[in-house]
Amino acid sequence: MRKLPEKIVVASGNAHKIDEIKKIFTDCELISMREAGFDGDIEETGKTFRENAYIKAKAVCDALKTAVLADDSGLCVDALGGAPGVYSARFSGGNSADNRALLLKRMQDIPQRTAQFACAVCLMFPDGGALFGEGYTKGRILFEEKGEGGFGYDSLFFSDDLKKSFGEASEAEKNSVSHRFRALEDLRSKL
Ligand code: IMP
Repeated sequence: MRKLPEKIVVASGNAHKIDEIKKIFTDCELISMREAGFDGDIEETGKTFRENAYIKAKAVCDALKTAVLADDSGLCVDALGGAPGVYSARFSGGNSADNRALLLKRMQDIPQRTAQFACAVCLMFPDGGALFGEGYTKGRILFEEKGEGGFGYDSLFFSDDLKKSFGEASEAEKNSVSHRFRALEDLRSKL
């Protein structure tokens, strides 16, 4: 059995994600990879969320020789065969607003709107050992954006649990049901 390290570097450059992880993983010191001195680019070449989480954790762990937590996540839309999935961040080739616009366009005439956010997390130790967690949260794709909160696809995702969009939810509400929260809980259960 592995113990939760006192200090963990988070292998992400996404300030929103790091903030969410900090609010969920409150019992250890979390610092971003940039704060820890890692400024390389990591190519996400995996075909699954789990593979990409592992690739990110390994790149930063090899460089800094410290415990590293990486997350990979995305939106999987049933009517689009699970797309954008692992390509969520790169869906349109543009920024988050472009991604949302493309999703709305693809879903324009589609009544079947069920979707889920998925997240895989990987906690890698300096000896190369790794633990994984997975989490999901279900909902459906709205016909227009609702709410200003969150990031990425939040304003287009109506959460089955919260009965409102993630964009309308408070941080605490989103964190109580999010794919990231559930993946981190799954990981914790293995420590
Ligand atoms: P990653 O940095 O490769 O894990 O990219 C994840 C992408 O999926 C983000 O850029 C968002 O577009 C989307 N995504 C993941 N989690 C969330 C979330 O909690 N809310 C909204 N969008 C998310």
